[in-house]
Amino acid sequence: MDMTLPVQTVRTTCPYCGVGCGVTATVRPGTVPIIAGDAAHGANRGRLCVKGAALGETLDLDGRLLHPVVREHGAMRRASWDEALDRVAGGFASIVAEHGPDAVALYVSGQLLTEDYYVANKFMKGYVGSANIDTNSRLCMSSSVAGHKRAFGEDLVPGCYEDFELADMVVLVGSNTAWCHPTLFGRILRAREARPQLRVVVIDPRRTATCESADLHLPIKPGTDVWLFNGLLSYLAKHGHGDAAYVAAHTEGFDAALAAADADCSDPAQVARICRIDQGKLLAFYEGFAATSRVVTAYSQGVNQSSSGTDKVNAIVNCHLLTGRIGRPGMGPFSLTGQPNAMGGREVGGLANMLAAHMDLDKESQREAVRSFWESPRIAAKPGLKAVDLFRAVEEGTVKAVWIIATNPLVSLPDADQVRRALDKCALVVVSDIVGATDTTAYADVLLPALGWGEKDGTVTNSERCISRQRAFLPAPGEARADWWAVCEVARRMGFTGFDFEGAQAIFDEHARLSSWRNGVHEAGRRVFDLSGMTGMDRQAYDALEPIQWPVLRDTDGAVTPTPRLFADGRFAHANGRARFVATAPRAPVHAVDGEFPLALNTGRLRDQWHTMTRTGKSARLAGHTPEPFIDLHPNDALLYGVREGELARLTSRWGAMVARVTHGGGIARGSVFAPIHWSGQTASDARVGALVNPVVDPVSGEPEFKHTPVRVEPFVVE
Ligand code: SF4
Repeated sequence: MDMTLPVQTVRTTCPYCGVGCGVTATVRPGTVPIIAGDAAHGANRGRLCVKGAALGETLDLDGRLLHPVVREHGAMRRASWDEALDRVAGGFASIVAEHGPDAVALYVSGQLLTEDYYVANKFMKGYVGSANIDTNSRLCMSSSVAGHKRAFGEDLVPGCYEDFELADMVVLVGSNTAWCHPTLFGRILRAREARPQLRVVVIDPRRTATCESADLHLPIKPGTDVWLFNGLLSYLAKHGHGDAAYVAAHTEGFDAALAAADADCSDPAQVARICRIDQGKLLAFYEGFAATSRVVTAYSQGVNQSSSGTDKVNAIVNCHLLTGRIGRPGMGPFSLTGQPNAMGGREVGGLANMLAAHMDLDKESQREAVRSFWESPRIAAKPGLKAVDLFRAVEEGTVKAVWIIATNPLVSLPDADQVRRALDKCALVVVSDIVGATDTTAYADVLLPALGWGEKDGTVTNSERCISRQRAFLPAPGEARADWWAVCEVARRMGFTGFDFEGAQAIFDEHARLSSWRNGVHEAGRRVFDLSGMTGMDRQAYDALEPIQWPVLRDTDGAVTPTPRLFADGRFAHANGRARFVATAPRAPVHAVDGEFPLALNTGRLRDQWHTMTRTGKSARLAGHTPEPFIDLHPNDALLYGVREGELARLTSRWGAMVARVTHGGGIARGSVFAPIHWSGQTASDARVGALVNPVVDPVSGEPEFKHTPVRVEPFVVE
């Protein structure tokens, strides 16, 4: 090691979960960066989970895509950026000219930085003229987006992480927080050590690692959350625990919501039976919720990934509105986002039914506001195709070109073999990625090398609306370039103006100015998303940006104010300033188990892996936690279906099959199976659990039902 080389410590943000922990990378050229938690970042205060701590082990260039590649006569060959970009721009332009703007699509990712996301959305919605740009965030939090918009009038998380520490009760619904948001879970446990009155309630069909630390675990029957929370609404109203003054002054729709709740859920004994929860435990939860002012109810994929995900979100929010527990310290509903920048994507209209700056595609005045700000020639006139429908349209041939950026849908989407059929038929498949060989890149006609974590520069927004910088501390490898740059180059080649950004700071400034402009053109109601206090940052100010929670306003003296909590004044973003109760009628998952497929498949994350393992898979330390895919089921079900712990079994649904080893983790109720989402077709056996998952989606949000697919399990026999 050359000890004369300068040592530099760069403050950045973890690229994995939605907690958005601050990270320091200490770099000496030629050595592996030393990764540590950033003590100055409010999300994690210097702590990292095992995935974050292993980031330094994922930075080598093995498997990296280092230059553009194009398909020629069926074979892939190296190409220059110019040739690859011309191929993309030419292909998109000719398909749009012949078949119209809706014949092309982008499918992007919560891994993108806000600046990448912004440019991609501007390109599609403002210049191509189609809203066919969706994101893998559709798979993890779009039900929360839809629920927030229905209740609050805008996609807003009211609280902040500090509320978990100030609460007297934290309810974790459909969230294995200990594994999926570990540093936040650590904050909850440390708060409970300091304040023993803080109780942790976990509502989850599985007995997960989170349950080990819970004061109360309700092992709910999969898919019955609306019954449980409608029952809570009914209980609170019947026993006089509502805040009548708050409901009268700040909300609307309570009577209809209560009538819907009372219709099926007014009897706790019946709710307990439907939810398959011990009645005493259910009442202990209801009584505890009723008696505790400071309650945070946090929810994640177990709520969102459901054919009734949006209703589940609103059933939870209804209980907080009835008790007025929102926007004040230590209380509120809280959506835990899965990905590092799911929130930033939402800011720039990253979903096919959204517009930049939280504006609505279905409101003409807001479409025109965005178009005029961009000075773009057109604006998408209607919402685009959501993820599952988008790949169906590719297979049907109505979408003829798709550009996939930073995601691996052939593994991660439901009915993943359908995605394979779609890409196989598609006239032009473009994939931007950091790795060259994934299940999805195998179908690319053009491969564009992207920058990875540690190489790219921009911002991300975490679950508590905190914008943090991701800073580059490594040189770009090979010919890899930023995703925003590749989109701008394609846009320019298609003849579009408005894409001459000099760098990430210029893009962020435009994004911030649009949010401020948006607040000048809205029709009515209080619009919340606003970065007007962040406009006009020069390169130096952008480089030095400290984590800050939006909305970020600037007062007349020029002072900038962040906003840790929203709605303390009881004013919401609907036109009349009131929050809305939503009447939610409970409904079961669309596909019920039956004699042929008698078990309900639940999918999810493991503690030490991230998505399809293209990065975490490089760390031997992380792989050691769970070295291979598995099928976890109850020992009695294993006996019933003739499979044995430690042996291979085949799991089959109506959509696909996978083979993996049987485990009895101890946390699974009879009638259910759990399989992790991480393994791909690149490993020894094709263990893509996405291939089995039913493609049913929530009718409001379009989020797939990843938590309930009927399957059967049988011994694996080598043929
Ligand atoms: Fe990264 Fe999430 Fe772990 Fe924090 S908790 S270090 S953001 S994976």
